[in-house]
Amino acid sequence: MVTPHQPPAPTAQDQLGFDPEALRARYRAERDRRIRPDGTGQYRRVTGELETYARDPYADPESTRKPLYDRVEVAVIGGGFGGLLTGARLRQAGVQDIRMIEQAADFGGTWYWNRYPGVHCDIESYVYMPLLEEIGHVPAWRYAPGEEIRQHARAIGRHFDLYRDACFGTRATELRWDEGESEWIVFTDRGDRMRARHVVVSSGTLSLPKLPGIPGIETFKGHMFHTSRWDYAYTGGDADGGLHKLADKRVAVIGTGATAIQIVPHLGHDARELYVFQRTPSSVDVRANRRTDPTWAQSLTPGWSRRRRDNFLSLVSGGQVERDLVNDGWTASARLLQNLVPTDSYAHLPAEERERLGELADFQKMNELRARVDDLVDDPATAEALKPWYRYMCKRPTFSDTYLQTFNRPNVTLVDTADHGGVERVTENALVVGGTEYEVDCVVLATGFEVGVSGILSGELQVHGRDGVTFAERWKDGPRTLHGLYSHGFPNLFHLGPVQNAASVNFVHILDEQAIHVAAVLAEAHKRQARHVEPSVDAEAAWVTTIHEKAHSLHKFQAECTPGYYNNEGMPRQRSETFGDGPVAFHELLRRWRAEGGMDEVVVG
Ligand code: NDP
Repeated sequence: MVTPHQPPAPTAQDQLGFDPEALRARYRAERDRRIRPDGTGQYRRVTGELETYARDPYADPESTRKPLYDRVEVAVIGGGFGGLLTGARLRQAGVQDIRMIEQAADFGGTWYWNRYPGVHCDIESYVYMPLLEEIGHVPAWRYAPGEEIRQHARAIGRHFDLYRDACFGTRATELRWDEGESEWIVFTDRGDRMRARHVVVSSGTLSLPKLPGIPGIETFKGHMFHTSRWDYAYTGGDADGGLHKLADKRVAVIGTGATAIQIVPHLGHDARELYVFQRTPSSVDVRANRRTDPTWAQSLTPGWSRRRRDNFLSLVSGGQVERDLVNDGWTASARLLQNLVPTDSYAHLPAEERERLGELADFQKMNELRARVDDLVDDPATAEALKPWYRYMCKRPTFSDTYLQTFNRPNVTLVDTADHGGVERVTENALVVGGTEYEVDCVVLATGFEVGVSGILSGELQVHGRDGVTFAERWKDGPRTLHGLYSHGFPNLFHLGPVQNAASVNFVHILDEQAIHVAAVLAEAHKRQARHVEPSVDAEAAWVTTIHEKAHSLHKFQAECTPGYYNNEGMPRQRSETFGDGPVAFHELLRRWRAEGGMDEVVVG
């Protein structure tokens, strides 16, 4: 209930200046236009003959080493921020014997692979980049370029001595639990058979590039690569652009997600001709990147990065804060709802009313973004095609001050594929949409990544727990974990990721809280000289129930969204598997669990 002394929120149609029902109908129609019956089946994995699309362009192909048969206390699989944070937090907790295992030739994860032209963090780097104060680094840009973030990942590796004993160029292929020894045997593609008391799997949730299964794609005779394996030998230039070898080339980009938004301005600038094949437009908000003000950097006091990061997380997950410290596109959209609802009455509103007002705020935001397209794009038909018709968080929002303007260039053409389910066919030298052949020399696949659970759900990493049981068998009716981090039947094994845990647009923050928790549990196990860390069947069942009880509202939202990887290509699972009360509540729950005797639930034997 809004308390009587406050003015009513401006929600009547005449005050709003738009018709909510008309927008709802348009969103439904645009969604239905894009739903494909094959859902996630439309994509192809980069395995077998397609494996070449996942090859590491930065590794020395000649690098060899002898297989390892030794023993370590903790093996961490994955050298992206999840793995690095786990390593760092374990070191802080006093664990010395750590081996990092990483498929790439260095640390960095996402930022190792994604070095495409224009690559930048789309979250403010002061809240995105972890361990800034520990490393003593203030990012040079508000939204850092990928190379700065990659170098920061390496600095974390050095600072916490994680290069020592690391295995790079090594893909863990299988884990087998040895009950007699209470340890895991880790098999890798280098022939290793090492043993580890504990294993932490953090091999990424969006790390395997996926390719569109467009008929004829294998017949293309020109050049083709995925954005996460950018071929600078072919394009020239570097992550800052200057793709001079494309000056005489006709280039196609398939996809218009967060990656394409950063690439397209460079390709438009440097290619002879650029065709952007779009199925669903992204929302594109103002970026306003700028160099860090040195006076501001000097004014920062200890604890600043945690305060800022917590403040951001609260706001973008629907919470209220006294002051918006980040104050950028992400937080401004989050604050929209608060502008509609007087702060002190928000908590008293019934859930349906909050939902209704949330939808109105969303309409307002998306109207603003659609108007921005009209402001920036000259050709009315192109502008119309570039407008996103769905709710703000149906797809990852994007930010750019150059993407939309690129379509005003005479050498750049937008090809709208929405009515054809995407690019229909590929020939030896062209992409085909609606009967028109677009001849090109090069195709850049900005088609995204498979959604996996650190390789466990995708089957990339075979795990045989107690009695040889696999995750596929144990989880045949859905994931079963405690806090998303460990599962009964798989002692001393931790898996990082959003499943049955928290999620946020600033995912590295989530990973850090997971790493802090895992390190605390492992340190406690060490202190108690426990042989096993494993949740009981009851603790796990209670957590699965909690997750399912809180998850329903997300399903409704996702079912109404335009298809994409956020909603399983328009076929959202009945239940979302992330904690429904949001990350702030989840982190508080973990802190309480640690403080109030939770360890007894998992540290056994
Ligand atoms: P996405 O999955 O977001 O986008 C893939 C694109 O390919 C979509 O536009 C999709 O269209 C399109 N597509 C797929 N198949 C076809 C087809 N057959 N024909 C035409 N179009 C097709 O991948 P991205 O790499 O852009 O982004 C993935 C994620 O990576 C982001 O959501 C974000 O989480 C992260 N990211 C983060 C950045 C950061 O700075 N932190 C920067 C870049 C990415 P449709 O939408 O219709 O399916």
